[in-house]
Amino acid sequence: MTRFEVPDGSVVQAYRYALDPVPRQQRMLASHAGGSRFAHNYMLTLVKAVLDQRTAEQSYGLAVDELTPSPGWSLPALRKTWNRHKAVVAPWWGENSKEAYNTGLDALARGLDAWSKSRKGERAGKAVGFPRFKSARGRRSVRFTTGTIRVEADRHHVTLPRVGTIKTHESTRKLARRVDNGTARMLSATVSCDSAGRWHCSFQVLVTAKRRPAHAARSKNAVIGVDVGVKADSLMVVGAPDGTEIARIRAPKSLTAVQARLRVLQRRAARQHGPYDPVTKTRRRPSKRWRITQSRIGRTHTRAANVRRDVLHKATTALAQQHAVITVETLNTAGMRSAGGAYKRGLNRALADAALAQIRQMLGYKTCWYGSILVSAERFYPSTKTCSGCGRRKPNLSLSERSYVCEHCGAEIDRDLNAAVNLARLGETHSRVGESGPAGSGPVAGRGAIHKSGTVQAGPAGGCEASTPHNPTRVGQAGTVVSQEAAA
Ligand SMILES: [Zn+2]
Repeated sequence: MTRFEVPDGSVVQAYRYALDPVPRQQRMLASHAGGSRFAHNYMLTLVKAVLDQRTAEQSYGLAVDELTPSPGWSLPALRKTWNRHKAVVAPWWGENSKEAYNTGLDALARGLDAWSKSRKGERAGKAVGFPRFKSARGRRSVRFTTGTIRVEADRHHVTLPRVGTIKTHESTRKLARRVDNGTARMLSATVSCDSAGRWHCSFQVLVTAKRRPAHAARSKNAVIGVDVGVKADSLMVVGAPDGTEIARIRAPKSLTAVQARLRVLQRRAARQHGPYDPVTKTRRRPSKRWRITQSRIGRTHTRAANVRRDVLHKATTALAQQHAVITVETLNTAGMRSAGGAYKRGLNRALADAALAQIRQMLGYKTCWYGSILVSAERFYPSTKTCSGCGRRKPNLSLSERSYVCEHCGAEIDRDLNAAVNLARLGETHSRVGESGPAGSGPVAGRGAIHKSGTVQAGPAGGCEASTPHNPTRVGQAGTVVSQEAAA
């Protein structure tokens, strides 16, 4: 599959705006999303039928060239078949923009491609299963890539193909200004509905790369480490290599209030007449009140996510602007919930993983914009277990221990700060390597001067999200993977 090449000096950025569609437009958007789902599911049925037929024929002993011809599952092939069938299976197809069906077919083409590559061993990461049918209750979205896509000059409307001009809930001035200056070019627009029932339009825009703004002075702490948590008092703890705490990002009161409300609503839903009958162990028709509670839960979840995203955006922008080297943990996606005992499971763990992924993603592109470097600690780097005072390690540390007490040097330090400081030191080791020669060209002493118990190779520099294959001999040693090099 060919990918769009981003020209030098440009970045692809999204501008997302909440919409206020009138009822007619809401129906049109829902119809487009439904059309996308229909095309996806219809073509999936077709592909599946041919694949099953081929399997059956093979079991009768037919030769390969006698089998039913294999269905093409590239996007053009799917589109061709869909266009042949649509007049019969979807006589209403003309009501929606062709982009609606294209959205569904594109998702299917990607899914089938990922599945077939994964099966042949050509795809890294977790095994990808066969694409599944899209449910009517899933996320509704449609992507427009051609036709009239623009933000209107009044900065309170956007225009999309077929749906027309929709009012936005907020001002589009930031994007409109860049379009007026000629520093932004629209690539596509994705309209989707969130769990609270609000429609959003996300413009994918090619913009000339940002520079670090003049007002953002570099902090005197060039190298920092960031520890990510879910506790209300420390969503993020930022530490310097010398052991000082630079910042502690707390959850705002609004977030803790929303989370408390969520717990109340979830308890209420559990008492109501839900879609599952625990007595007969069957599905049943849920009550109207249960539905109402569910929609409130959806809205509350969206609110919590919005508040959290806002806090994280502000914090990561400040970090990327002010510090030269930022070190964060790598998420162990594959083994996340499979190992680590009971203390690693549960909602908090899942939330922390989600927050870490979000922060890494934000820092990834923001460090590119502002010319700083993001260093990823290797998956097994023991940032929490190591004492930032003497460098010795504790074998086990339960999550309930909020402060790190060292048995060797007697140091007592906040658990999250301890981890952040260790990460900052790892980043410092990395940046010193970067100064003395090309990063990743030679062996690096494990965790600086503290443990000299072996050397590891630094990861490949300049790659994007380079992942290190699992290697048990590296457990416990320090290694760094550069995921983003300075853009300018
Ligand atoms: Zn110690």
